[in-house]
Amino acid sequence: MTILAPDVVVAGGGIAGLSAAIAARRAGASVLVAEAAPQALRGGNARHARNLRLMHDGPTDLMPGAYDEAEFLADLERVTEGETDRAVALRLIRASADIPAWLAGCGVSFQRPGGSLPPSRKTAYFLGGGKAVVNALYQEAARLGVTVWHEAELVDLTAEREPAIVIAYGGEPYTLRPGALVAAAGGHQADLDWLRRDFGPAAARFAIRGTPFDTGRALRLLLAAGARPAGAPGRGHLVAVDARGPRFDGGIVTRVEAIPFGLAIDRAGNRLDDEAADPARTHFAKWGRLLAERGDAVLILDAEGERRAPVPALEPIRAATLDDLAARLGLDAGALRAAMAAFNAKGGAARIATPPFAAIPMCPGLTFTHFGVEVDETMRVRMPDGEGAANLFAAGAIMAASVLGRGYLAGLGLTIAIASGRIAGEAAAQHSRSRDART
Ligand SMILES: Cc1cc2nc3c(=O)[nH]c(=O)nc-3n(C[C@H](O)[C@H](O)[C@H](O)COP(=O)(O)OP(=O)(O)OC[C@H]3O[C@@H](n4cnc5c(N)ncnc54)[C@H](O)[C@@H]3O)c2cc1C
Repeated sequence: MTILAPDVVVAGGGIAGLSAAIAARRAGASVLVAEAAPQALRGGNARHARNLRLMHDGPTDLMPGAYDEAEFLADLERVTEGETDRAVALRLIRASADIPAWLAGCGVSFQRPGGSLPPSRKTAYFLGGGKAVVNALYQEAARLGVTVWHEAELVDLTAEREPAIVIAYGGEPYTLRPGALVAAAGGHQADLDWLRRDFGPAAARFAIRGTPFDTGRALRLLLAAGARPAGAPGRGHLVAVDARGPRFDGGIVTRVEAIPFGLAIDRAGNRLDDEAADPARTHFAKWGRLLAERGDAVLILDAEGERRAPVPALEPIRAATLDDLAARLGLDAGALRAAMAAFNAKGGAARIATPPFAAIPMCPGLTFTHFGVEVDETMRVRMPDGEGAANLFAAGAIMAASVLGRGYLAGLGLTIAIASGRIAGEAAAQHSRSRDART
């Protein structure tokens, strides 16, 4: 059996893990990143992401106006209904202020305001999207001399004075005794059995919007080692996605963006809600929850609605008449006609009148769950006595429920991941150094 002892092992090569690895390496630690995915699919869910939320006290070259820590915290407390650890949240919010400069130092570029970008005082957008960020961070990690193992999974953990961990890599179990472990292995949303236990039968219809490698194995290991849980099982961020999309990793491509332009009904023809009530982009989350509660549904559009809606990735199902559309969808034609008549009778901007008619089958798409481990302000994993474990750190989605017990704010996932990753990486390197000084 091979026993290795780098200063810091980072489990998970998503954006939190990469931030931790770079920060730890720059602080002088030797670092090994174990990433479960193969190289082409590495990087976790940041591959699908586009913007992040940043505190700033005045206009910057990326964002107009100001978004200070009080306003950021108030937004967070509002959406979480108070389910946030204030001290940890403030640490992350303050750390968000210099994320643009830190990322720029890793070779990441941002989009400048103007052009077709929606002006945003609270979030900034990456040039080239999240995939470009992941690629730049892997390049920076390599330049610094961080060792990266792909298709390498954390499969065992014993929390002692020094953590003993097992990484399955290339068909071999490697036992490692690092000075510190940073668990940055994402959430558990790709474990369908776990989802069924927490969300009930509705989970069988979920599409998992992100990586299939977030199986929650590391989270299970931390909980088994005594970590305090954060958030609540059975809570998650759900949006409406095209039910014909892939079960995993559909990203933002299959999200249904046409809801405000049509009529959303369940398979019995019952309207789910007011489609045009909330044209803000945040309406996606409401529809995900409705689809989870009410069962799968279909969005019906007419030719005018289709023309006004953003072009979807998957071609809608079309028919020249409503009866033909009902037949193609396996719906009762009378129920569809009645739903359409009631919808049109209500007035409002949208009407379903002009053929050809189109339909998009929808199902709930799970972005992440609100469940993980508790951390303290240095991202140490809190153990049963409430104290942070000396050598066990957590960053990103695996600890996000510490500050995001429910709800969501656009761009917050990446902010939590990068800020917590940097803090965890620096603290893990420091812990490792103090261990070296003792021995
Ligand atoms: C479709 C989609 C769009 C999004 N858009 C945005 C956005 O625009 N802005 C925003 O702020 N947030 C967005 N998010 C959320 C954001 O992507 C995540 O919050 C963030 O990427 C989490 O980063 P992470 O590194 O903590 O976890 P992840 O990205 O989940 O990465 C975890 C990594 O750990 C690896 N891993 C898992 N288990 C193990 C193990 N046992 N051993 C070793 N490795 C393991 C996985 O392969 C993965 O690479 C989006 C999410 C999705 C799904």
